[in-house]
Amino acid sequence: MSAYDKLEDWISKQNPGQDEYLQAIREIARDVIDVYEANESYKKYDVLRRLCMPERIIHFTVTWLNDNQEVEINQGWRVQHSGLIGPYKGGLRFHPTVNESILKFLAFEQCFKNALTGMPIGGAKGGADFDPRGRSEAEVMRFCQAFMIELQHHIGPNTDVPAGDINVGAREIGFLYGEYRGIHNLFSGTLTGKGLSFGGSHVRTEATGFGLIYMLRAVLAHQGKKINGLVLGVSGAGNVAMHAALKGIQLGAKVISLSNSRGCLEYPEGFREQDIEWAIDNKPDHKNVLTALQDKIGGTWHDNKTPWHLKMDVALPCATQNELDETDAKALMQNGVNYVLEGANMPCTDEARQRFEDNQIVYVPGKAANAGGVAISGLEMSQNAGFQRDSFDQIDESLQQIMQTIHDQMIEDGTKDGKVNYARGANIAGFRRLADAMVAQGI
Ligand code: NDP
Repeated sequence: MSAYDKLEDWISKQNPGQDEYLQAIREIARDVIDVYEANESYKKYDVLRRLCMPERIIHFTVTWLNDNQEVEINQGWRVQHSGLIGPYKGGLRFHPTVNESILKFLAFEQCFKNALTGMPIGGAKGGADFDPRGRSEAEVMRFCQAFMIELQHHIGPNTDVPAGDINVGAREIGFLYGEYRGIHNLFSGTLTGKGLSFGGSHVRTEATGFGLIYMLRAVLAHQGKKINGLVLGVSGAGNVAMHAALKGIQLGAKVISLSNSRGCLEYPEGFREQDIEWAIDNKPDHKNVLTALQDKIGGTWHDNKTPWHLKMDVALPCATQNELDETDAKALMQNGVNYVLEGANMPCTDEARQRFEDNQIVYVPGKAANAGGVAISGLEMSQNAGFQRDSFDQIDESLQQIMQTIHDQMIEDGTKDGKVNYARGANIAGFRRLADAMVAQGI
């Protein structure tokens, strides 16, 4: 049995039925197994198996009252995967599809992503199976407060610093932070993504989407090319998608799509900067921002479709995990796609990723391409610790440098026989940092 097969066998027995988690482990293990096998200390300390197990999983019940004074019960989790290189850090997701497998995969990926930023931050993820859709603001607030009553036992500025993720934006972070501060009588950087008036950082809202486009620019520059005039297909209509679209347009690309769980809005002429700014500004007022955008500017709505059947140079999946499968990958390649950069976490299925690699399509995984968000969260933590606030331009400059550094690490670890494999580069660079810390800290 090969070392990879042994690991795969062991991991499958440890995590039965946790498909997303096993998928994330396999993707990384395949790329790093040779590095592991070639290093005696890594083998002696069994670093690969240990890195595949979360240090801690906290599972709790969230009980709260809806507007009709009825009791509602949800499940909440915090997966603290690895604190090897710094306090646990990673977002909170509120979505009916949230379960332990999904949060374990997200926490695992987060460790590698955070390691790639070069900052001293560990990896975690959390959330609840709460669906905020159709809930009043008062209900969302009461849910956040009830969630924090449980979570607050396990977090702190030097222990675990949660942030936002799907359906957890500035509003929810405000409610969560207010409850934490109320309980602890402590103004600290325990959550990131806070409002600017209470310790938030400039560029945090924009960071993941902007960072994705800065990564695209770095990839293109490495090939002596420019973003100007390229056709970008974006999925999602949330924080990451909108800010990726905005920065793409600002840098001269043509963005032809946005999407949500109901379908895809195609706009072949390319959205204008002011269209996306309008959508960002008006999102809180519109349950379906894409319908509102179409009413305003036109375009074609494709019911229950993703953008992957459209013709584009660059695909930027920015909605959710496994949203781009093998059939989509084939359609994209038939239409001439050259670059796939993941704005969301693990949006491409394993088979789709394999197709792209087999056909020399440049594929940059989420753990590198969307690391801009957590990087600026790291800067929010250091600004909070130093009671200071840097300007928008300073932080934006730092974001550009961080994305370039991540790009260069992937080139260093992912180039073989003159060919670049960004996914392999990202996995190896992140793995080395975590494995070295594990060896240094002993059993
Ligand atoms: P938002 O909640 O702001 O937006 C999510 C978007 O994805 C919405 O348009 C939503 O549509 C769509 N979506 C969700 N589920 C599905 C689905 N099953 N099929 C199709 N569309 C879907 O989230 P973010 O933009 O913050 O996050 C998007 C992705 O980026 C996630 O994978 C997240 O983990 C990742 N990410 C986010 C970071 C951040 O800083 N926010 C940092 C790094 C990664 P609808 O409204 O119809 O549900």
